[in-house]
Amino acid sequence: MATTEKSKATTTKSAAKTKTAANTKSKTGKMENSEFHEFFVDELKDIYWAEKHLVKALPKMKKAATSPELAAAFEKHTQETQTHIETLEQVFSLLEEKAAAKKCDAMAGLLEEADGIIEDTDAGTMIRDAGLILAAQKVEHYEIATYGTLKVFAENMGHTEVAELLGQTLENEKATDVALTECAVSFVNEAASQE
Ligand code: FE
Ligand code: FE
Repeated sequence: MATTEKSKATTTKSAAKTKTAANTKSKTGKMENSEFHEFFVDELKDIYWAEKHLVKALPKMKKAATSPELAAAFEKHTQETQTHIETLEQVFSLLEEKAAAKKCDAMAGLLEEADGIIEDTDAGTMIRDAGLILAAQKVEHYEIATYGTLKVFAENMGHTEVAELLGQTLENEKATDVALTECAVSFVNEAASQE
């Protein structure tokens, strides 16, 4: 009961708020100038910045890795990240928005942390790899959270094709996270504990 009343109140409030925004309906009948749409596009710009910076950081992480397996995982994800960038460009184009990057403080911080881990660990050790996996998984989890939410936003707004594209990237980020966990549990952590 209370929940229904609350959601009713929220709906009324947000409906009143969007009234002030210049709502125009496109040929597809969707509201594309609503505040929520603007917010959605802003968040896409944020993850676009994140991906563009990550694609430059991953080769450094690959170079820093001790094991060839982890280096290969970083190499693979560099190529996949390039695809994520292109997918976002497709998303912007579908939304008829300019592909623009907006600084993502979270990714900037996560990449700074990855640099710190490289500085704090010795080259050629498995502790270095354990640290790199930690840094990379923090990045992947951030991406999973972002794409998961943005995909639902797109679905809510009726952008089916956009939702599908964001879903593809989401699945790839999840697979990367699993691959990193496999590296850690199959050999990295045990070797690191013996150093
Ligand atoms: Fe990505
Ligand atoms: Fe990723």
